[in-house]
Amino acid sequence: MATCNLCPPGRREHPEDEMAEHLRTAHPEVDEDGTRKGDDSSIVTGTSLESAPEPTA
Ligand SMILES: [Zn+2]
Repeated sequence: MATCNLCPPGRREHPEDEMAEHLRTAHPEVDEDGTRKGDDSSIVTGTSLESAPEPTA
């Protein structure tokens, strides 16, 4: 599961494979990488977005 820090507490958990789609539909003002447009700060943390590096097992 991925955590969307833009959603209200208790409603932040989303399947990782739906996170990009969720950001597009629920938070269109936020880029897919979790950063708000025009803001360099990272909003979504603790996730495994497709753009995030996968740990090598
Ligand atoms: Zn959200």
